[in-house]
Amino acid sequence: MRPDALNPMFAETGSLDGVGPKLKKPLARLGLERVRDVLYHLPERFVTRRAIPDLDAGSVGEQVVVPLTVVEHRASRSPRSPYRVLAQDAAGNVCALTYFGRASFGARKTLPVGARRWVAGRLDQYDQMLQVVHPDHVAETSDAAMGQLTEPVYRLSEGLTQPLIGKLVDQSLARAPELPEWITPSVKAREGWPDWREALAAAHRGEDAKARDRLAYDELFANALALMLVRQQNRQRRGQSLQGDGRLRERLQLPFPLTGAQARSIDEIAGDMAQGHPMLRLLQGDVGAGKTVVALEAMLVAVEAGAQAALLAPTELLARQHYETLRRMLAPTGVEIALFTGRDKGRARESILMGLLDGSIPIVVGTHAIFQDKVAYRNLGLVVIDEQHRFGVGQRLMLTQKGRVTPHTLAMTATPIPRTLTLAQYGEMEVSRLDEMPPGRQPIDTRVLPVDRMDDIVGAVERHLATGQQAYWVCPMVRDSEGVTDDIAAAEARYAALQQRFGEDVMLVHGQLTPELKDANMARFAGGGAKLLVATTVIEVGVDVPSATLMVIEQAERFGLAQLHQLRGRVGRGAEKSTCLLLRSAELSETGKARLALMRESQDGFRLAEEDLKLRGGGELLGTRQSGEEGFNIATLEQVSRLIQMASDDAKLLVEAEGGLYGGARGEAARLVLYLLERDWGVQTLRSG
Ligand code: ADP
Ligand code: MG
Repeated sequence: MRPDALNPMFAETGSLDGVGPKLKKPLARLGLERVRDVLYHLPERFVTRRAIPDLDAGSVGEQVVVPLTVVEHRASRSPRSPYRVLAQDAAGNVCALTYFGRASFGARKTLPVGARRWVAGRLDQYDQMLQVVHPDHVAETSDAAMGQLTEPVYRLSEGLTQPLIGKLVDQSLARAPELPEWITPSVKAREGWPDWREALAAAHRGEDAKARDRLAYDELFANALALMLVRQQNRQRRGQSLQGDGRLRERLQLPFPLTGAQARSIDEIAGDMAQGHPMLRLLQGDVGAGKTVVALEAMLVAVEAGAQAALLAPTELLARQHYETLRRMLAPTGVEIALFTGRDKGRARESILMGLLDGSIPIVVGTHAIFQDKVAYRNLGLVVIDEQHRFGVGQRLMLTQKGRVTPHTLAMTATPIPRTLTLAQYGEMEVSRLDEMPPGRQPIDTRVLPVDRMDDIVGAVERHLATGQQAYWVCPMVRDSEGVTDDIAAAEARYAALQQRFGEDVMLVHGQLTPELKDANMARFAGGGAKLLVATTVIEVGVDVPSATLMVIEQAERFGLAQLHQLRGRVGRGAEKSTCLLLRSAELSETGKARLALMRESQDGFRLAEEDLKLRGGGELLGTRQSGEEGFNIATLEQVSRLIQMASDDAKLLVEAEGGLYGGARGEAARLVLYLLERDWGVQTLRSG
């Protein structure tokens, strides 16, 4: 149960003054549904304005405060064109104050003709005239307009304005209670950090590194603590010790010897499974590193020991592909395997359910349908989760809690995460790394090209397709300042353009298609029914298409290197030569170019991830691309890498030396931060266990 002290923080934003039904939607689009969300909607940056006597003293693009006299109102002719108020400065220069949509209603009142007003906002050029679009302040006195020359700039969505968010933030701050301190006193003193409430206020007021660090630390601490609690509880849970005798594994007729990394990982996994408490292990390895065989061996250990194993895939198509691969590899062992997806109906479905219940099906592959309540197992001993990052922490915990005894969990991911971030993201898990590729792999020939050579690039794709091979064309996922993705637009526009050239041979896949359509389109491409696949990053969790050996990635500079690497891995699976063309915008900066050049030099995902972290420290690895599921909303990548170890040590101190959440005053305070930052699954699992 959430501590009562936090209730005001979890009240809906509708309870704030000035928030009616009309604002609900725009606020929700920014994720601002409760007071706490508003509090943690920290400014993206701050603007500092300059007071100027007249327009001549300001320059275009500058943030200013200037006195003006209202001359004329020009109503818009159509609802789509703006409402303009013309105003004059002391020198006789005219400037337009421009309002779109409903914002003009206010202007009619606050800007009567003939009145002198101080106007704050950014000077822009429109045709031959200066203008200020949606002035931030219009005041009768200079004091009111200039009282805050430094102001926060918040991320907005359509229908919201800076002053409006500012007012909501003020109200939310006023409601924030004083909370007891959860950070260990020595850390707080050493860093010189303010109290929680003061840190929030300061972070909204101006650039304040200490305040920001404290808030980021809170998030990292809450995360580390929750993961630690899960892990601690997991150790106390009863699991089943599964020790295989090797009789099934020795019948496998793999066409290749295992790599050293595969053999080591299998040993680590088998070691964990032999323990009396449930395994929680992450298997990291680039696309093509050979995770499937490792999963297969782990599943056979479970079967040899008389238990069942389930493999969970993020999409139905991927489940199907895993099923086919595993079925072929299992043939010489005689072990049964079934495919179970939400789409199974009737007799087929019933017979799989029966087989899982009576144990005659020892291995099942499927989507999350395999964990529905209706699906009961005789003795589920191991759960393998492919493409771990597609599943949230909550889901992952839910899965492992099925059954009388908690099954062992092996999670697999191809996302190369730097070591420091592994701790942050998967802190509760042991990690095995496939840091060695199977022999015979050719490096992916990677080239960086300016986008203005588009004709050449399309020509190269055409020649490639003419040889009978296939290709991917990846468009970036872009979030604009309104929180509306225009990735669809980009991919669709590119799709339309390429269709002109290649007709029916082009196929489109993106995240806003229904899962069924996405799978159907992917399947058509995989089956050779289309030659060129235009896609967003959804294909990073894709099926293998061996004859797709060329990939074009547009606006490559927008991606993190780790993600670029994971994407290009889609074409580097076989022994044949494969190519990745990274298109960069024409005006890319030097550092941007240096980052992309690394892609040419290295095929090592972990190294690329580490280098990228050093080079940019911005958001791609966590946060954005994880859609916030496991990422951090407050801490930036740079803060994560700088503060994670401290936060993790602090959480450990609390759990191991101070009696955890129920050991005293700090534990009680820590419970607050778990709820406040929505890591309360840490508390809940502790309670239910
Ligand atoms: P991942 O799931 O890690 O992306 P896969 O398990 O699909 O990679 O393996 C990619 C390809 O490499 C498969 O065709 C697989 O048969 C092959 N492979 C796996 N292990 C080895 C190995 N030790 N030697 C040679 N080929 C291997
Ligand atoms: Mg795989």
